[in-house]
Amino acid sequence: MDLTYFYDELNSSLIYKEDFLFKSKFELLVKLILSSRASGFSANKIGDRVVDNFPNLSSLSKAHESDLQNLIHDIGFFKQKTQRLISASKFICKNYNSNIPEDYSSLIKIPGMGDKSSKKFLTLIKKNNFIMVDTHMTRVLNRIGFINQNQNNKLIEYIISNNIPKKNHTNFSNLFNFFGKSICKAKKPKCHLCSFKNFCNFIN
Ligand code: SF4
Repeated sequence: MDLTYFYDELNSSLIYKEDFLFKSKFELLVKLILSSRASGFSANKIGDRVVDNFPNLSSLSKAHESDLQNLIHDIGFFKQKTQRLISASKFICKNYNSNIPEDYSSLIKIPGMGDKSSKKFLTLIKKNNFIMVDTHMTRVLNRIGFINQNQNNKLIEYIISNNIPKKNHTNFSNLFNFFGKSICKAKKPKCHLCSFKNFCNFIN
C-alpha cells in the first residue's frame, strides 16, 4: 500500500476537529505559543484568559512577568511560556511595527514560534499548504512502516511530498496528527478503532 491509501482512508473516516478557536491573529499567536507540549484544550482555555486580560500586543508586551505567570500557571512550562509571550509581543511591536506578519520567514523569527507553530499559523489564517511533522504523525508513520524512528523531519517531509499532492499537505498533516493524538496514542493505542491493523508493525 502507498501513503495515498492511508491518507484517503483517514480522510474518509476520521472526523477532524481543529484545536484552536480564535477571532484574531493575536489570539491565534498567543494560543500557539501556549500550546507547546500542552493540549489544544488547555491552550484554548488559558489563551482566552490571556487575551481577556491583555487584549493586544502592546498590553501583553508590557505585562509584568508575575501577573502573567499567575494567569497561566496551570499550563505546563508556564514560566518559559510567560517569557515567550512577552518577548514575542515586544519583538513584533519593535520589528514588525505591531503587525503580526503573514509569511513564514518573518514568523519563525518571533520568540516562541517554531517551525510547526509558524506553519500552523499560516494554514489557519491563509489556508496555505504545509507539511507539519510532529511526534504524533511520526509515531503513526513509523507504526505503519513508512519511516523509522531515527528519520529526521526533513526526510519525513520529503517522503510525504513525494507521495501526496501539495494541495493536500495541510489536510494530511492535520489528519495524521489528530489520528495519532486521538487513536494511535503512544501508550495504549485504540487499535480496535483502527482500520490499519493489517499493515501495522506495532501489533503484528
Ligand atoms: S493498529 Fe493500533 S498501533 Fe497500529 S496504527 Fe492502528 S491504532 Fe496505531
